[in-house]
Amino acid sequence: MENKIRGIHHVTAITADAQDNVDFYCGVLGLRLVKLTVNFDAPTSYHLYYGDGVGSPGTVLTFFVWAGAYRGQVGPPQVTSVAFAVPEGALEFWAERLRQHQVQVEEIGDRFGESVLGFDDPDGVRIELVAAGSPMAGSGPVEPGRAIQGFHSVTLSEEGYEKTAKHLTDVFGFQAEAQTGKRFRYRSGSGEHGSVLDVLCLPDAPLARLGGGVVHHVAFRTPDDAQQAVWRGTLCDLGYNVTPVIDRQYFHSIYFREPGGVLFEIATDGPGFAIDEPADELGKKLMLPPWLEPLRGKLERILPQVQVPDWPGAVLSV
Ligand code: ZN
Repeated sequence: MENKIRGIHHVTAITADAQDNVDFYCGVLGLRLVKLTVNFDAPTSYHLYYGDGVGSPGTVLTFFVWAGAYRGQVGPPQVTSVAFAVPEGALEFWAERLRQHQVQVEEIGDRFGESVLGFDDPDGVRIELVAAGSPMAGSGPVEPGRAIQGFHSVTLSEEGYEKTAKHLTDVFGFQAEAQTGKRFRYRSGSGEHGSVLDVLCLPDAPLARLGGGVVHHVAFRTPDDAQQAVWRGTLCDLGYNVTPVIDRQYFHSIYFREPGGVLFEIATDGPGFAIDEPADELGKKLMLPPWLEPLRGKLERILPQVQVPDWPGAVLSV
């Protein structure tokens, strides 16, 4: 079977404040909260999932809520920035909109011929908007000509890039595409959302430490359980330490560390976020997987209330 990674499935980061996080990603960036649930491995804390209207693979940014956590250390080996695609010509709108919400934005820069706008979210996660999409797509409270369309790429910071590069090309089937300075670009053949990966070689930077404002892991797409099983076999044969398949309710996952040390996940495209609530009701109330449902009463007493804006809500503008 021709088994190549189709690009990014989701990215998971850590926030210290659930409400600030919802206000920023829904209220400012115009993403939809597609699932309000708990961290299945630590169910007394929230796990927030944002995405396009239905949480399509390639659009989903998720956060573990570590309430009141100290800020972590951004550095290798880690995903150190998350880039979303926006339509050509939309960056000036976004720069102005972010400034109006007291977000410090950098000057619009150029990377491999594409315009990039960089800023930090309220916890310090570095987000980038890349002018790379067509102006037709998009949904949600930001008018379609400007809205975030899904992932463009992530940047992995590594002490050395060679072993990670070899993994991306020889195992995942990405193509080495370009280099500028310490940044090396790889692309999956799918051409879908999130098909780009940059590796930044930072041998002298302080090493990563988990905490608020850092990315926990990046997940890559596989279409179904059968192809995921092939991936698991391939990775085990190569000597990687891979977890068993874990049921994440909205997708099925395996995890391993790539040779540079970043936590990778391979997640199935399905069953998706409409498996336990109607598509037009996503994210409005706390959803629990069947095995945690007996704890609902206790969890609802422990977890803080989160106010989630209506979707699609009013059209947001500068
Ligand atoms: Zn994940």
